[in-house]
Amino acid sequence: MPVYLDHNATTPLDATVLDTMMPFLREQFGNPSSPHRFGRRTRAAIDAAREQVAALVKVHASQVIFTSGGTESNNLAIKGVAAADEPGILAIGATEHPSVIEPARALAVHGWRVKEITVDREGRVHPELFRETIAARPRLVSLMYANNETGVIQDVPTLASAARSQGVVFHTDAVQAAGKLALDFPSSGVHLMSLSAHKINGPQGVGALVVDKAIECRPLLHGGGQERDRRSGTENVAGIVGFGAAASLAIDQMGVRTAHFMELRTRLESALRAIGGVAIFGAGANRLPNTVYFGLRDIDGETLILGLDRKGFACASGSACGSVRHEPSHVLRAMQVESDLAIGAIRVSFGAGNNERDVDDFAAALAMEIQRLRPPSRRRAV
Ligand code: PLP
Repeated sequence: MPVYLDHNATTPLDATVLDTMMPFLREQFGNPSSPHRFGRRTRAAIDAAREQVAALVKVHASQVIFTSGGTESNNLAIKGVAAADEPGILAIGATEHPSVIEPARALAVHGWRVKEITVDREGRVHPELFRETIAARPRLVSLMYANNETGVIQDVPTLASAARSQGVVFHTDAVQAAGKLALDFPSSGVHLMSLSAHKINGPQGVGALVVDKAIECRPLLHGGGQERDRRSGTENVAGIVGFGAAASLAIDQMGVRTAHFMELRTRLESALRAIGGVAIFGAGANRLPNTVYFGLRDIDGETLILGLDRKGFACASGSACGSVRHEPSHVLRAMQVESDLAIGAIRVSFGAGNNERDVDDFAAALAMEIQRLRPPSRRRAV
């Protein structure tokens, strides 16, 4: 059986989540906007799922806008807030996901200027430097909660409160953090938060943007006025129901999973240290318990993951969406990692189904692949 170690790219759909979705792919097909009983049933299912997703981040259900995923949520937050304001500075983290970087860049045509918020060598934004960013009076800040490649967690409550105190709107991409960290939207101080179902054992193609009631966020999609006019289009009922079930599952399982991931992470990191010549990125920072991102000099990460795939292990050489590009990751560049090390970057991200045996087998396969790929002069006994 192949071993899947790429859960930051996507997670398998949980069997109980699928069971909850099935009626909405079969007999419960009504359009939620229809007033008859078919429509009322699917509307009620969406309402229930909205409560479940709201509970994941401790907000009122009316603050949840369902979208087609994290990418749309990030686009909606950035373009929707920008559309309600005069053009100005938009500050984004240097290690953001492309679904934040690209909409921010796209706003240049409307007169917006993008300012990058730098990170240190561990991938952290420093509150002192952040205060300088805020002093430049951006209209909007977008800073991710946890990074998809390194797993590095930002101190969002501290940073968001600095922004809030100066009247700056703060959006956070919490796609990787949700379900892995206990998130509390009201006390985190953020105004907008992006979520995605498929990172928490829910279905692909559904997500949410959580919005503070005081914030104006204009819609990207106009039409039938669904989601209280904030996101038109007939709802993806089965997907939304699955998202709700996955959110409830994540709440139930968070404690157990965190402890399990920490054990696996510690085990893998000590195996990597035993292999030698391996640098763990963001090792000095607070990181997601399920993520280990490491680099090897003189080895190409893409070649290595293909070799590992042949041995039955699926992991990533960088962010999933960027892994077709053969260049050092922008996240590692922002952390000032030398390019010969960044080229050899490998990301392992655990999920609920992984166990210690997976870690040991992966570490053994990795050691063999390194031995095979390293130039003879740099080989050592493993
Ligand atoms: N933001 C982060 C941090 C991600 O890791 C991803 C997915 O990889 C996204 C946004 C995009 O989410 P989706 O795949 O639901 O569009």
